[in-house]
Amino acid sequence: APASPPPTTAPARLTVLSGPTAVGKGTVSAEMRRRRPDLWISVSCTTRPRRPGEVEGVHYHFVTPERFDELVATGQMLEWAVVHGVHRYGTPREPVERQLAAGRPVLLELDLQGARQVRVAMPEAQFVFLTPPSFEELVHRLVGRGTEGPEERERRLATARQELDAVTEFDHVVVNDDVTRATGELMRLMGLQEQVA
Ligand code: 5GP
Repeated sequence: APASPPPTTAPARLTVLSGPTAVGKGTVSAEMRRRRPDLWISVSCTTRPRRPGEVEGVHYHFVTPERFDELVATGQMLEWAVVHGVHRYGTPREPVERQLAAGRPVLLELDLQGARQVRVAMPEAQFVFLTPPSFEELVHRLVGRGTEGPEERERRLATARQELDAVTEFDHVVVNDDVTRATGELMRLMGLQEQVA
């Protein structure tokens, strides 16, 4: 009988995308979703107020601090963290497990603290760090976005400076110099072929 082929490494089904504030995680994941509607992107719970244009259940599940406490206490969070020193953000566990069990590729968009928790909980996941071309570019993007006041912006930039140092903890680094290019690179890492329309 012919020798069996060497074992192949199946692409990781769970991918964690992390990176500093305003680097463009949301933009890249929205572009992924546009190109591959079959990709499943987790919707986090947060205690922060809804921004104009954000939709409940699409961008986040907006919950009260009491509800968040309850979700944590009953083990329903895969990970959670206080981000930028104020509000809590967390990933509901059950939908992630259900999608993975169904064999769908899953993307989690997390801050660094969350990525570290998933590294412990699900070491088989792959961890991707999205990084800006430079720190100056990150400042430029955060100011341009205009969603935070000066105080909140300073707080986020202080976090970002620390987060950039964590790049060495990740399996892959993607430079977000161009959304289309960065998205393509992330899709290749996830083993997703572009579907030609
Ligand atoms: P924003 O308030 O701008 O929507 O998000 C702030 C930060 O929270 C982002 O860096 C984002 O990656 C992070 N974040 C969003 N959802 C989650 C989550 O479920 N868990 C963790 N740990 N961080 C999250």
